[in-house]
Amino acid sequence: MASPLRSLVYDDNRYQKAFHLFLERSSEHQCMQDFIRNILPDIVASIGNGKSHLISIGVGSGDGRIDLEMFSELRLKHPGVTVDHEVVEPSSQQLHSYKVLVSQKSDLDYITFKWNKMTASEFEEQWELKQMTKKADFIHMIQMLYYVKDVEATIRFFRSLLDKDGKLVIILVSDESGWGKLWRTFRGQLCACQISQLVTTADVKNFLDSEGVQYKSYVLPSQMDITECFTEGDESGELLLDFLTEVYRFSRTASPQLKADVMKLLRDPACSLVADGKVVFNNNLEVIVADSPR
Ligand code: SAH
Repeated sequence: MASPLRSLVYDDNRYQKAFHLFLERSSEHQCMQDFIRNILPDIVASIGNGKSHLISIGVGSGDGRIDLEMFSELRLKHPGVTVDHEVVEPSSQQLHSYKVLVSQKSDLDYITFKWNKMTASEFEEQWELKQMTKKADFIHMIQMLYYVKDVEATIRFFRSLLDKDGKLVIILVSDESGWGKLWRTFRGQLCACQISQLVTTADVKNFLDSEGVQYKSYVLPSQMDITECFTEGDESGELLLDFLTEVYRFSRTASPQLKADVMKLLRDPACSLVADGKVVFNNNLEVIVADSPR
């Protein structure tokens, strides 16, 4: 039976609002920053093979905050290099925020930003159309693989662009997170459209294993305060619920039974810790660093 639920991704305005609220209520970016400061330096130290000009690609870079943090570490390991950075981002709102952020910084002269207002698959088409042969040293896809039609084809294409010693960094929710549990339980009922895939790093690892690709992985412990979701009619709670289920206006459009089942699981110990009147959802992420095929 066709699902009557609409995906949140089709409404960029509401998606962006929900995403920003999620960032406020979670330690999502803090745990990525810890990773960037503590583990990424060794990873970027191994790329480039002594080259003075590096090529990087950010797929689904959002407003660029995380990209720029990564560049700070890359710069420390490769002082004096110049970088071409291809930003692949379909949301004009996000791309605009990224450009504003870049314009406010004075220490980014070594980076040439190439703005690609398009999806990952449109970028792939363009790349092939222009018969591009240049290879990238560093590619990242952070919290974006949920939004592509074909996760495996996307990984395969971008990995094929890596130069020798290049690295592909993927960050998604971990299979052991509350997200993993929620999506495994309701996949059939929530997956409202082709482009909202409820993927976790377990899916990516299975794929890389089946292709014989070498990779390393790191779990990033993270939490999200979802207490507001349990106050009927609370506007922030409704936005967070949309973000959790990836369904547009979930509270108003889901059947009472599905809603009740989702709410029950959200506060179940499999997903959350309930203490001191707060419901704290397990938002653990996982980073996968895949090697170049060369
Ligand atoms: N990487 C950023 C943003 C993550 S949100 C961060 O971690 O902060 C996911 C981003 O992917 C959004 O900016 C969204 O616009 C973008 N996106 C959605 N569909 C996409 C697609 N098909 N190809 C590339 N990016 C996409």
